[in-house]
Amino acid sequence: MRISVAIDGPAGAGKSTIAKIVAKKFNLMYINTGAMYRAVALKSNENGLSPANVGEICSLLKTMKMKFENDDLILNEKNIQDKITMPSISSQVSAYASIPEVRKILVKIQRDMSHEFNVIMDGRDIGTVVLKDSPFKFFLTATPEERAVRRFKELSERNIECSYEGILQDIKNRDYADTHRETDPLKKADDAIEVDTTGLNINQVCEKINSYILKRIY
Ligand code: C5P
Repeated sequence: MRISVAIDGPAGAGKSTIAKIVAKKFNLMYINTGAMYRAVALKSNENGLSPANVGEICSLLKTMKMKFENDDLILNEKNIQDKITMPSISSQVSAYASIPEVRKILVKIQRDMSHEFNVIMDGRDIGTVVLKDSPFKFFLTATPEERAVRRFKELSERNIECSYEGILQDIKNRDYADTHRETDPLKKADDAIEVDTTGLNINQVCEKINSYILKRIY
């Protein structure tokens, strides 16, 4: 029987850090769906396509072969993880992610991955759309300020120039865009477990998620 775990929540809630740890514990493949939307934004940028160029973006997307290796996104055999996590992509990605045609293609790829592998996926619409039948759904939250501090530390450790205020603003903009778009907006699935990570460390959050999965898996 395939196992799939859904983790949703706003930017900087700790989804990817937590998902990677839980993936190791239960031997799941970690699928970072945000990375796939970021790849669309990156490639569209490189090809001079704005979010209005829907047809061209979909044609481009059909040439993009995506897979995950060691938690990194590999696009057409190239590791693009560093490029897609740059602030310039973060500030543009939500506009590309709100295109229904793009979502339809990526949701299909993500579902196919979940049929082939035991997965833990993080994103915005995993519990509500992509893995809506999963028995393991989590919705992580934290205040925008705490999320901005986490992102600021992460980028600073990679020596990427950024400001706390700029990141906080980007997070607020993305929260708004992701929760207000028409297609598959960010929202907690009715049957998801909400975990407010404000003030919790990584181990405490993993402990909550692991114990929930363990109780229901055996
Ligand atoms: O998770 P991450 O912050 O990298 O996601 C980047 C953006 O991709 C989000 O702000 C959102 O606009 C979009 N996204 C989405 N649906 C997903 C994952 C990400 O719309 N399942």
